[in-house]
Parts: sequence; C-alpha cells; structure tokens
Amino acid sequence: RQINSVEMEQRKGRRLVLFPLPLQGHINPMFDLANILHSRGFSITIIHTTFNSPNPSNYPHFTFRIISEDLPENNRCTKDLIAFVSMLNAICGSPFRDCLADLLSDTSEEPIACLISDAILYFTQDVANELKVPRMVLRTGAASSFCVFSSFPLLREKGYLPIQDSQLEEPIVELPPLRVKDLPVIHTNDPEDLYDVVVGMVEQSKASNGMIWNTFEELEGTSLATLHQKLGVPLFPIGPFHKCFAVTSSTTSSSLLTHDQSCISWLDKQDPKSVIYVSFGSLASISETQFLEIAWGLANSNQPFLWVVRPGLVHGSNWVEPLPNGFLETLGGKGHIVKWAPQQQVLAHPSVGAFWTHNGWNSTLESICEGVPMVCMPCFTDQKVNARYVSEVWGIGLQLEKGLERGEIQRTIKRLMVDKDGENIRERTLNLKEKSNLCLSESGSSKQALDSLVHHILSLES
Ligand code: UDP
Repeated sequence: RQINSVEMEQRKGRRLVLFPLPLQGHINPMFDLANILHSRGFSITIIHTTFNSPNPSNYPHFTFRIISEDLPENNRCTKDLIAFVSMLNAICGSPFRDCLADLLSDTSEEPIACLISDAILYFTQDVANELKVPRMVLRTGAASSFCVFSSFPLLREKGYLPIQDSQLEEPIVELPPLRVKDLPVIHTNDPEDLYDVVVGMVEQSKASNGMIWNTFEELEGTSLATLHQKLGVPLFPIGPFHKCFAVTSSTTSSSLLTHDQSCISWLDKQDPKSVIYVSFGSLASISETQFLEIAWGLANSNQPFLWVVRPGLVHGSNWVEPLPNGFLETLGGKGHIVKWAPQQQVLAHPSVGAFWTHNGWNSTLESICEGVPMVCMPCFTDQKVNARYVSEVWGIGLQLEKGLERGEIQRTIKRLMVDKDGENIRERTLNLKEKSNLCLSESGSSKQALDSLVHHILSLES
C-alpha cells in the first residue's frame, strides 16, 4: 500500500518500541508487525535480549537496543519453557527499565508513542507504568486459546485443572468443543509456575492500552468478542501479519536458522497438490519410537513428503541417525528431509497438498492462508486448542487422536489428501483461504482494524 503523504506527515516523529519474546514463533510475528507499522509511518526501535538475538543487518530501517539479561547457564535452553519464561520475567525488569529510560531521555530521537511487548513479557507493564509510557500488547497466539488461558482460574475452580488422566476425554462444558485433553498445558517442574505465567499474561494484558492480534475477524470473531467483554481493552485483529507485510514491504527474514532452499527445487519436480509437508516448529520434540512411526507412516502413505527434521527434534539424537540405513534411497526420491525450510514459501507452493503440523499458531495461520488442509499433532500449550479448532470448529484438518502409529498416520494422510470423504475438508480450507485474503483488502476487516490501531496509537498520551 502506498503511504499517503498527509498521513506520513501527521505521524512523522513517532517512535514505537517493540520488545519480542526471544523464541522463533514470537520473533517472526513481532518483526512482521514492526514492518507493518513502519510502512504506516512509524519509526521502530527493537529491544531484544542477548539470547536468540535477531540480526540487525536484516532490518536497516529499524534501530536495535540489546539488554543483557544474564540468564543463568541452566536456563539458557528452552527444555522447560515455563521455567524459561518465568526466569525472563523475573530477571529482565531492571535491564529493560534502564534501556527504556535511556530511550525516553534521548532527545536526538523522535518521542516514543508507545511500547509494544509480547503478552508473555508481562513484567513490562509495571515498567511502562513507572516510566509513564503507554503499553500495548502483541499476542502472537490465537484469540481462541487466549480465551482458554483467561479461564484458567475457573478451570481450576471446577476441577478440570490440574488434569487428571482419567478425565482426558471429558468435555469442558464451559468451553465447547474442547475436551480436557485439549487444555493448553505443558510439562514443567513446578505446575504453579504455569498458572503464574498464565495469570501474569492475562492480568497484565487487561492492564495494557490494548491488544494486537495476529488473526482476523472472519476466523475468530466469536472468541474476539468474548475476550473484548472479558478483558475490557481495545482489541485489534490485524492479521494475517505475514500477508500484509508481503504486500507492503520487501521480504526480509527473522528466521534464527538458515532456510534450506533445496526444498523449492525438489517441490518443483512434484505433481500439483501431491506433497505432504511435515514440520513441528521450533520447539517441539519427539521420542525415537515416535520418529520411526512418523517415518514409516510417511513412507507407507505413498505420497511424496517434505519433512523438516530440526537438529534436536528427536530425543537423544543429533539429527536423523535413528532412520534405517538408506531409508530415503529405498523410496526412490519420494521423500526429502531438511533441517529447516522456508515454510511460507513451501506452503504457497502448488505441489503442496497437506501440512502435518504441531499447530503452533504461526504454522496454523500460514497453512490457512495458503488453503492447505492439516494433519494435526499438537504437542503442548495453545497447540492443543488450535488443533481442536482446526479439526472441529473450522473443519480444515484431521487430528491424530490415537497417538503416533504408522497405520493411523497412513490412513489419515490418505483421507485428507486423496479420499472422497476428505473433499469437504479440502473445500472448506480453500474457502477460508479466500477469507484470509479478503480481510486484507481495502474494505476488509483487518485493514480497517489496522487503521483503527494507527489511530489508537496516535491518540495515546505518554
Ligand atoms: N518455520 C520455518 N521453517 C521451518 C519450520 C518453521 O521458517 O522449517 C517458521 C514457521 O513459518 C513459523 C515459525 O517458524 O513462522 C514457527 O512458529 P509456530 O508458532 O508455528 O511454532 P513454534 O515454533 O512457536 O512452536
């Protein structure tokens, strides 16, 4: 979109300070948001941690400030995500405060209109209050899963949490169509830490000046309306981010790992909609037994497959060592394995006919935008809610309900990609793709929400 010169003039001199959670699934949407707001005339400063720091040379149009968060050695990994997030919230306060105070006192830069932090970095609300800077929140997950997080106190009161293994299949009557097994939990050393993180995220979002969402009204209107009532702050569903940014700015990458471009030339050689793309995102991990069931399920499905095996995906292995010798060779070119793929490009490729995903929100949304139906295999937290919405609310995928078993995998892939009874799913996926395009058009819901967001930010008083 061309930036209107009057708008540009009006906004000149406004800086936004963005603070991403340093994990891939949070960094990507924060940088997309930065690009979107930059294209609307704002200057952008990114505050980031030393851990997983982005490459500033990919973003010459932004300025960067690093905070030394001093994570203890044993927390410099993301094996226990909740411990990691709690630790960040506990130790970043002081260096973040100093950094923001420094930016505020720097008269050579434009005045700061507001701070936009990831919802999970909830400690930033107190710092913003203290320094009298408006704070907005970016929630990188879905509105539907946030509804569930905001119900955690109720779910504890009603006895759904902590989860009892004997109740996994029971419906949650307050949150249809979820069942107990769909609740967004994750294993952590101290379960109280999970509740603290969730409550911190929800309460400090309520205390903010508003929330920005990587979703769109036509997809999650009901959940957004519920949240609007519950949270009482303005909500701006302006997604899908990666699509607005693609039309407003040149492509840069916030990927922490290098994209293996061999995927694309391999896809070029496959038939239209024949390939199943398999990736479980940047954090999920699986056992060796599960890995082998996946490998045989893919091989037996007879569909060509492109499989991202991230180093560290398989417990106890560096990469693909557990595969039988010559596994790919015996398949005669039907399979291609890479360490990290240019996922958005892959999903947009005409050869891709299905996505076997862990249902991280970015992956889910990227799949929706390209009209690719999903095989759902959620691992933890909001992925479980996303997968249930994909399979039962939007009807654009099939969930592997019975664990990972090669026969079940083979049947599910066939049903989704080939069989007649998967046709409805494939059709609904294409309809939703259409809606994800329309919401970004001039009169579309996300475009209008973005106009309101710009207006809202300009109306905030520091
Ligand atoms: N991604 C990628 N290459 C891959 C796998 C994933 O670029 O091989 C990107 C993907 O496009 C998405 C992000 O990494 O934007 C993963 O985010 P998501 O929320 O799906 O999952 P998480 O990694 O947070 O579990």
